Amino acid sequence: MKIDMTYISRNAVVNGICPADFYGSRFARLSRPNPRGWSNTRCIFHDDSTPSLGVNLQTGAFKCLACGTSGSNIIQFEIERTRGSFADVLRLLVDEWGVIV
Ligand SMILES: [Zn+2]
Repeated sequence: MKIDMTYISRNAVVNGICPADFYGSRFARLSRPNPRGWSNTRCIFHDDSTPSLGVNLQTGAFKCLACGTSGSNIIQFEIERTRGSFADVLRLLVDEWGVIV
């Protein structure tokens, strides 16, 4: 299906995907989240030997304490991960998650 990105808003994508489901699909291992939603895992943005990357299963924010890669939502995470453009990542997420807009 060809998706006209004009009609897909960033907020619809961010709000339409559960951060816990999203990060669960991206990482085989996530620590039990703390009360504020932060879970730790090995960072994919540098060669990590300890779980330096924090991902927030409530908000989608992420921050690596070792390499400093960070962002406030899953779109920014996918842009960092895939090195794609904003529009590419929106399209990828809509295709993968079937976000209803
Ligand atoms: Zn890192």
